[in-house]
Amino acid sequence: MPPMDFQGFIEWLIQVFQRIEILVPTLAGVAFIAFLGIRYRNRRRDLALEEVQVVGEEEKTSRPAEKALEEEDEFSEARMRTLEALKVRGTLKPMPLAASKEGGHYPDIVGISLSKAEDLIRDLVKKGLAFEGEVEFSVAACPLCGSCSQVALISCKNCGSFRVHEVKYYRHTCGYVGAESNFLTEGKLRCPQCKSSEGIELYYKRYYCQDCKTESDEVNIAFKCGSCGSFYDESNMMLKQFKKIELSREGLEEYEKINRALSTQIQRLSAQGYTIERPATLVGESGVTHSFEAVARRGDEVIAIASAFGEPLTQVLFKLGVAKTDLKLSRLIVITGKPSSPAEREFARSLGIEIIEPSHL
Ligand SMILES: [Zn+2]
Ligand SMILES: [Zn+2]
Ligand SMILES: [Zn+2]
Repeated sequence: MPPMDFQGFIEWLIQVFQRIEILVPTLAGVAFIAFLGIRYRNRRRDLALEEVQVVGEEEKTSRPAEKALEEEDEFSEARMRTLEALKVRGTLKPMPLAASKEGGHYPDIVGISLSKAEDLIRDLVKKGLAFEGEVEFSVAACPLCGSCSQVALISCKNCGSFRVHEVKYYRHTCGYVGAESNFLTEGKLRCPQCKSSEGIELYYKRYYCQDCKTESDEVNIAFKCGSCGSFYDESNMMLKQFKKIELSREGLEEYEKINRALSTQIQRLSAQGYTIERPATLVGESGVTHSFEAVARRGDEVIAIASAFGEPLTQVLFKLGVAKTDLKLSRLIVITGKPSSPAEREFARSLGIEIIEPSHL
């Protein structure tokens, strides 16, 4: 095999397979293993595009893992709302959040947990709908578990002990300066030199360590992790950066193109008497759940529609090739926002997958 780029590799692969006439089963086998790998790393439903649905309530309730599906729906809804906010403002701004593991949040993302919100941001960035901008702030995090939930403790600069307390020094207008204990008589502050209780003010503070018996002007700050309980300080803390999230106009354009094409397809199928589920999942003979933008049914016919948004078309075709062998589909359609190459079209044709691309819209 000569040295070549990825595109060349695919063309070479197709030629080889055509020659030995084992294209689909072999490819499907290889891709199936790859797919399982991808699937387990990223179990979330693929991009659920805007505007939903028609159908399938009775089916929904009978499905297993109903809770997971519910969470996925919440995730899709949160993504839609987040995308709307991004479209309006162009930017999502993070804010620090006290007493949270995450340490900060994006107030525009609502309706899902903070950790899911982080997944959502990663997902938008991965799909090319948004990109990370400037750092807004950084939060101290546990070097062991990454949690930002902590309590700050003061410790002795000299020996590291936590057995440190504050010593207040007061000054009286007569000129006397002394520790708080010298001023305290019967729970009240009174000048030990002139016995007056007027005009006494806090002069400075120092810190006394009960272990090394020293007093100093400064202390160290140490953290006890609220999640795993370990101690850390400035020298070994982790910093978690919070960045502005900016909308990618280019990504949005592709997303909307695909969205329009998807709606057109669905309207067409609907008019032909198909029942539409959007988004939809189908369970294959292998037991694996395959996710689609939409599934259309009419009698025994099942048409699945996927999109190649934010992913190279070849990669999507590999996954769909697997889905096609695992499911009984009448048609499998993939919508792409970018023009496909001849190699990609050839690959799709060999797998029996229809491509709908911008030039067809
Ligand atoms: Zn000490
Ligand atoms: Zn005095
Ligand atoms: Zn921790």
